[in-house]
Amino acid sequence: MDRTTSLLAIVVIVAFLVARFLKTSRRPPTTMFTCGRCRKVSPHNRRTIDAWRAGKTRFFCGACHRAWLATQPRRLPDRSMPGERADGCLGVVLFFLVLPAGAAIAWVMR
Ligand SMILES: [Zn+2]
Repeated sequence: MDRTTSLLAIVVIVAFLVARFLKTSRRPPTTMFTCGRCRKVSPHNRRTIDAWRAGKTRFFCGACHRAWLATQPRRLPDRSMPGERADGCLGVVLFFLVLPAGAAIAWVMR
């Protein structure tokens, strides 16, 4: 194999890894979560998955979420914009890009 073929193969492998990562990163790693308030184990729903994507690590069951909402004064929900913590996700993507790229360079340059 010449260098161009080698690099092409590496690019395909990296693209595959990134695509697989992006596909599996859309949902939390577990289907269930323990409520951060009452410790009840509940399945993830759209609200908790959105919170997970926004970088939250603590989730609340439906009952606790409603109870929490009732205690909150009426205000714009601007404190936790989705995508605020996207840099953590990007870091993992960069890791997957840099690691094979480094190995590829070491392999091609030998
Ligand atoms: Zn709860």
